[in-house]
Amino acid sequence: MSARKTASTPLLIALCLSASAACGRSGATGGSGGPPDVVLITIDTLRADRLGCYGYGPARTPILDGLAGRGARFAVAVGHAPLTAPSHASILTGLTPLGHGVRDNGAYVLPEAVRSVAEDFRQAGYRTAAFVSGFPLKRRFGFARGFDTYDDQLPRGKDLRRTAYVERTADRTTDKALLWLDSAGPPDSSKSPFFLWVHYFDPHAPYEAPAEAMAGAASPYDGEIAFVDAQLGRLLRRLEERKPALPPLVLVTADHGESLGEHGEDTHGIFVYDATIRVPWILAGPGVPAGKAAPVVARGVDVAPTLIDYAGLAPRAMQGRSLRRAAAGERLADEPAYAESLHPQLQYGWAPLHAWRTAKHKLIEAPRVELYDLETDGGERKDNSSRDTARVEAMRRELRRAMSAETPRAEQAVDPETRERLAALGYVGTDGAAPAPPTGRDPKDGIGLVTRLGRNGMTIARTEPQKAIRELSALLAEDPGMLVVLRTRAVAYAAAGRPDDAVGDLRELEKRSALSAEDAVVLGDNLRLAGHIKQASEVLEKTIRDNPTFAQPLLSLAAVHVQERKLDTAAAAYQKVLVIEPDNIEALRGMGDVALIQGNVDGAGRHYARILELDDSDTGALSKLGVVRMRTGRADEAIALLRRAVDRDPKHAEALLYLAGALAATNRPAEAVPFFERALAAGPRTPMALNGLGLTRLALGERAAAVAALRESLRLDPNQPDVAGTLRDLGRP
Ligand SMILES: [Zn+2]
Repeated sequence: MSARKTASTPLLIALCLSASAACGRSGATGGSGGPPDVVLITIDTLRADRLGCYGYGPARTPILDGLAGRGARFAVAVGHAPLTAPSHASILTGLTPLGHGVRDNGAYVLPEAVRSVAEDFRQAGYRTAAFVSGFPLKRRFGFARGFDTYDDQLPRGKDLRRTAYVERTADRTTDKALLWLDSAGPPDSSKSPFFLWVHYFDPHAPYEAPAEAMAGAASPYDGEIAFVDAQLGRLLRRLEERKPALPPLVLVTADHGESLGEHGEDTHGIFVYDATIRVPWILAGPGVPAGKAAPVVARGVDVAPTLIDYAGLAPRAMQGRSLRRAAAGERLADEPAYAESLHPQLQYGWAPLHAWRTAKHKLIEAPRVELYDLETDGGERKDNSSRDTARVEAMRRELRRAMSAETPRAEQAVDPETRERLAALGYVGTDGAAPAPPTGRDPKDGIGLVTRLGRNGMTIARTEPQKAIRELSALLAEDPGMLVVLRTRAVAYAAAGRPDDAVGDLRELEKRSALSAEDAVVLGDNLRLAGHIKQASEVLEKTIRDNPTFAQPLLSLAAVHVQERKLDTAAAAYQKVLVIEPDNIEALRGMGDVALIQGNVDGAGRHYARILELDDSDTGALSKLGVVRMRTGRADEAIALLRRAVDRDPKHAEALLYLAGALAATNRPAEAVPFFERALAAGPRTPMALNGLGLTRLALGERAAAVAALRESLRLDPNQPDVAGTLRDLGRP
């Protein structure tokens, strides 16, 4: 585990830095055609035992099974954390979370001092590109380092239960990767090879695969996996067609699995049982013998050294090792694997979990230690810790040695704000000592609370906020230390239209030094909604200063400026976002909206059109561009755009209303009426919509229905002399 610290490492790096780009390529491996392209596929939340090649009967994974048949399948492979960011950091760096310092999603940035395998490939002259599909891998967390292209553009999403921009589905991610392959030009021997990383997120909850993938699937989770498998098939086919003589080296693995109810856990993140630690590990391509089941435990930290080995780059010190010889069938001695979850501690105030896993046994360090025999008890149901105390002590010593050796690195990884958070939780020492002994609840005793939080809190906070607030308040009464509950209840309060209460929960997080940058954005938004404009600006400006590459607080600050009617200042904030993320859809939308308010119809149209180039399903942009076209006299185009918007989102109240208005204005009252009705059913019953309906009915000669609509409008807003006059003219005041 301490190989990383060998004295020769800095020297090796220094030599490489001073030499040419070819430094480090120590003899290619791909036979006649030069070094192969290298493709890393990570499929989020994928249990190995849900694939056909790992023995799952109902599996519909022909692509992955075929890949395993053409290459080597590692029967047992493990990740180092049941969380996306820490586990992917291990895959990319060859270091465990103790070594790279990324301990949870969303709160850590991969430290500059930690090298990504993408940097190795780039330095060796490879072209490097990554296409990721989940929020925890956004570039601001440091994962883009070493990649010439890093596509982390996530669409807005339509799932009302979730935050916007958290996921991209496998078809879209594959489309973007294929576009990049096309732009890379036809393969020819003079071109440098590439290192391509594609990350798929679909098997992550909620499980909602498209219908064609669900057909025949044994469960919705299986359906998501079948969908990814089919999309991966598109990608692999194109890769193989490009260079039939030299197909790429492909490694497929996952960051973690999914508990699916085992040990009382619905999803992942808390426990370190094999349900979430075991992953697939499939390797195929030049130099990989076909049909082998490699007889050694593969680990997340082994990915980077293995890829480096096959590509013929110079090896460098990492905690993992190349499994090339094992892929060829050689029996290597198993190396132990470290695994952890700090999520229970950081989010719940409970004890962290640390595990030491050998091929045969697993020790889980917790307030009540656990020991499992993995050979006879793969489901980890029978704890042997009280029977086999000698083994507990021996494995505990190894675990503690690994942890104390690595703690200084972990500290380097932590930014000041996170360090403050950890310090408040009693975790980070200032002297590089081992973490303080756990003082919180054993996660085994709290998993029922996690399940309640997930089912009756997180998944319904936005859609059933009243119910969520009740349940979350009950959870807080049971365990006031669960910071994640405060965070979730703030979201529910906001959805319930109670911004002052949301502010209360977020200020409480702040008091406990647990306000993350994302929380600060929610705080700023709710302060704005509650009318505390000055406080909102202060919170957001501080968050921008502390997180200069984070777009979200700039977007929220721009919304504050719009509310203050400082439109030029708002536009300047949106421009700053576009400097950080040139294709940020909300910034483009903001620019469009500001231009529209300022009467710059053409400018607004350009911004909405750009959004549609990036995401042709963005119904908000379709609808607004429809308005712009209407205002510039292009009614047919406007109606076509608005029809597309309501086809995609049949309950989009704004688009329905604009479409109704456009049809009425172009002398099609009979077509307009149903859209007015649908707009009123989908959205608020506003005087504007009711007046539109009333006047259109009148044009059709439907006097009684017209009068009803106009009367309702006048009840809502009595100060409408025109409407009152129309009713009088109709003799129905
Ligand atoms: Zn994940």
